[in-house]
Amino acid sequence: MSNKTIRTIFILALLCAILMMITQYVWIKKAYELEKNTFHINVTTALKNVAFYILQADNNTSPVDSIVTRVDTKYYTVNINDKIDSTVLVSLLKRELRAQQIKTDFEFSVYDCESEKMKYSGYISYNQDESSKDITRSVFPKNKKQNNYFGVHFPHLNTYLTKEMSNWFFSTIILVLFLLILAYAVFIIFRQKRLSEIQKDFVNNMTHEFKTPLATIKISSEVLKNPQIINNPERLLNYATIINNETTHLTNQVERVLQMAKSGRNTIELNREVLELNPMLQSMLDKTYRPLVRSRGGDILVHINPIDIKIFADELHFKNVISNLLDNAIKYCARKPYIIIDCSEVKDGIRMSFKDNGIGISKENLTHVFDKFYRIPTGNLHDVKGFGLGLNYVKLICKQHGGNIKVTSELEKGSEFCIFIPKFRKS
Ligand code: ADP
Repeated sequence: MSNKTIRTIFILALLCAILMMITQYVWIKKAYELEKNTFHINVTTALKNVAFYILQADNNTSPVDSIVTRVDTKYYTVNINDKIDSTVLVSLLKRELRAQQIKTDFEFSVYDCESEKMKYSGYISYNQDESSKDITRSVFPKNKKQNNYFGVHFPHLNTYLTKEMSNWFFSTIILVLFLLILAYAVFIIFRQKRLSEIQKDFVNNMTHEFKTPLATIKISSEVLKNPQIINNPERLLNYATIINNETTHLTNQVERVLQMAKSGRNTIELNREVLELNPMLQSMLDKTYRPLVRSRGGDILVHINPIDIKIFADELHFKNVISNLLDNAIKYCARKPYIIIDCSEVKDGIRMSFKDNGIGISKENLTHVFDKFYRIPTGNLHDVKGFGLGLNYVKLICKQHGGNIKVTSELEKGSEFCIFIPKFRKS
């Protein structure tokens, strides 16, 4: 599947997820409004019934259609215009509100003709829990337009409505979970795709690295197959040497890949010892790197402070770390390579930085260069060989020593790899 198709699918899935969340939100809001409306209708019906029974007991036949007033969402008044007995009122309220499926506490007050005030009459808990008889609406406002009337207040209306909506919240949680699982699946797909691309690159690189020596061996062996070659011992030796060199090169390559593959187990046994950094580094530079860099018109500068820095490390692996960093500094440089190596003692350890003037690494690639098999396509720098394993190995070795590696880089300007190895920490 191409990157474009995956990206389109991802964007469509994201849009669907956003639409699903918006739809869910709108439905929940609507359901809440509906729940509120149903509550209002049921309370009004219950209160009308209460009024009807009170009036009927007094043989009063006044209509009850517009007897209920909604003062606010939680508070209702019922204008009876007849005397109200609190005991009768409470039992009627309980019965009628239950009949209308109003499953929440309420408190009520009755207008007192003598004091001409609303008098608080009681708190009725839906679960009949006496201990919850606390007054929540301390002042029941008097309605100047009404005479004999009572008020009913629902103090926990919001909690009640939220509880009634629990199914909706449950479905929202399921939806969010589903979207999270979907996001995780998409993440896995992307990761798998990247891994498969990396592996494809690795196989391509391997083939490329082995193709040239194999072709050279084939040509040389064909020359050696010619019986006439026996008459030309110099030529014979020449071709035999080519075959020998190329097989050594191939063996080394295979060995390198095997070593790197072993490092995939994420532990390498270290044989740490105290090493003199300056002589070790200078010998590596003199034998291999200075001649290489100078042949390309560049140079390597070294600062070591103090000059007798000692390092507690595995010699073989530590030398490999330095080689990998120097190899890269030279490989990934399109001009005369100038490399600055800076070694210093810092608190608790040794810091070494390798600064080059190479092609640099872009910000988006910088986070991946330590990943296994990761290689950045080097458009203008052809035929740079590698397996994308070097930096991964370098990082692993630094970590095994209890240290770390950091990189800063700018495209076209160069890169700086900085390693830290703790002084005398046995891991
Ligand atoms: P390899 O060199 O075998 O490809 P590495 O793991 O050593 O693998 O490096 C990974 C990638 O990081 C390289 O492909 C290269 O693109 C980039 N890289 C490493 N070192 C440098 C450097 N000094 N300058 C620019 N790019 C670098």
